[in-house]
Amino acid sequence: MNSKSPQLSEASTARINYRLPQVEQLLQLTLLAPFISQLSRPVVTDLIRAELASIRQSETFKTEGTQHIDVNQRIVQRCERLMLQRQHRVINATGIALHTNLGRSPLHQEVWDAISEVNTGYTNLEITLENGKRGGRNGLLPTLVRSWLGAENVLLVNNNAASVYLVLLELAKGKEVIVSRGEQIQIGGGFRIPDILALSGCKLVEVGTTNVTTADDYINAITDDTALVLMVHQSNFFIGGFTESPDIRDVKRRLPSHVNLVIDQGSGMSTESFAPDETQLATYLDMGADLVCFSGDKILGGPQAGLIAGRDDLIQRLGRNPMMRAFRCGRIILSLMEELLVRKLNQDTAGQGIAERTLAHLPQARQWCESLAQRWPHWVAFVALSTQVGGGTMPAQTYPGCGLVLNTPLKPQALLDHLRLGTPAIFGYLHNNQVVLNLTTVLAADQAAFVERLDAFFQQLDSGEHA
Ligand SMILES: *Cc1c(COP(=O)(O)O)cnc(C)c1O
Repeated sequence: MNSKSPQLSEASTARINYRLPQVEQLLQLTLLAPFISQLSRPVVTDLIRAELASIRQSETFKTEGTQHIDVNQRIVQRCERLMLQRQHRVINATGIALHTNLGRSPLHQEVWDAISEVNTGYTNLEITLENGKRGGRNGLLPTLVRSWLGAENVLLVNNNAASVYLVLLELAKGKEVIVSRGEQIQIGGGFRIPDILALSGCKLVEVGTTNVTTADDYINAITDDTALVLMVHQSNFFIGGFTESPDIRDVKRRLPSHVNLVIDQGSGMSTESFAPDETQLATYLDMGADLVCFSGDKILGGPQAGLIAGRDDLIQRLGRNPMMRAFRCGRIILSLMEELLVRKLNQDTAGQGIAERTLAHLPQARQWCESLAQRWPHWVAFVALSTQVGGGTMPAQTYPGCGLVLNTPLKPQALLDHLRLGTPAIFGYLHNNQVVLNLTTVLAADQAAFVERLDAFFQQLDSGEHA
């Protein structure tokens, strides 16, 4: 109130409130309590200060004070926007099981629960219990991988990009690496085989053509400076038509002893039955690969990690490379891998990756989908769709799937945004300018939340909201 202002009458100034609430007072609001527990008190305090400052500077506030400004609501909106940045459980209705942007492999609940105890206490991470001496941080992993793949030894690193980089750095720095022209690929965001070779100080020797590379191509390119033949699995693209790749056994047989054969297999395909045409890890080792590299969180279905399996002498060298210090995993990843592989070797469902579990549930997914089409006949229609494994694996392979096409008064993009911005966030996609939810990849544990959200949404539509 400004009673000294001669231009304004008492009556009009009296109604204008230029006083904003105090930060401490706002922090007590019940409607901010959930944000304090989710974002922390100091962060919410900063948001309140920022919002108050922005209100103070606004023209509306300068001319008419707070009378048309809902201060509390504006702070809540700021908190909600920031909350979107936090990691959330989201619903994958994209039909891509290993969705890189949605965290790739969700872990099985039982695997996650099983490692809780070991990770909330001290562990024998780098101590050999038998003699009390300092040990490596491999735990039971070498034993499990020997049984699983027949590999002599294994090394665990942060991701498969690190596997490939470490192999090149230790085994081929300053030397030549032979790679087929058909395999000089880019995997996801900026991981290009030629770049990674250059960074690790190797000289790339290209052989063959995009569609044909023969054993002779590899063998004829070998010099005294050759350290490796690197074969890279074509994970995220597909070359059809006239193609030829060499018989790996043949290449191996003809390689001189100073040249190692390394296969970047990528997906971690082993005993899964859904892709019989894919060469399995153990087969590559059988055919003579000295090392195979693969991700922990693709087909295998574990945490983000890279595994290098194969010859013990090479694995030991990799383990001694100084860069291993930067690439090694912590106890959480190691314990998850141990638990997952034990379950896998015991053929327990919890040992299956998400791709395998998703594809095993196609009939149930279809039933669920049909029941939902009947539940919301006004707003959705059943649609047969295809499902992909994804995550840079088997690009040419699709599996049957099903979902719902949504038919609402909202514009397709607005509907997609609405689904993504609610809780839990639902990720569908646009197809022929319609919103499609592929239900094949919705986890069983998310089904109830999915139905609850859509029930509420369709009720709003029934009552004329969003129109
Ligand atoms: C996925 C993939 C990579 C990269 O693995 P990340 O675990 O994502 O680092 C490397 N090579 C191949 C062949 C792949 O499929």
